[in-house]
Amino acid sequence: MKPKMDADGTCTSRFKCMQCGFPINTLYIQYSPGNIRLMKCAYCKAVADDYIECEVMILIIDLILHKPKAYRHLFYNRFSSETVNFKGLLWGSISAFLILDICIHI
Ligand SMILES: [Zn+2]
Repeated sequence: MKPKMDADGTCTSRFKCMQCGFPINTLYIQYSPGNIRLMKCAYCKAVADDYIECEVMILIIDLILHKPKAYRHLFYNRFSSETVNFKGLLWGSISAFLILDICIHI
């Protein structure tokens, strides 16, 4: 399965393989509620994103262990620019940093 391409040749696939970063159109196919099949990457032939079936706690542990595929899952496949307001997150982080910095220096 080839990744989706625009007329000008840019890739429009929304997801990426967490093993190699190759664009993929879909991460799983749902046959019935609770019955899914994970898609394999066309480039590396591995399961594109196996964190879909994992508990959130396993993802958090892998994030603490700095596993790159856990970060790829989080930033490419879990959150996207449509689902997360990065500008609001940036301003909230700056505000929280300034408030905590003021509390430390008082
Ligand atoms: Zn891959």
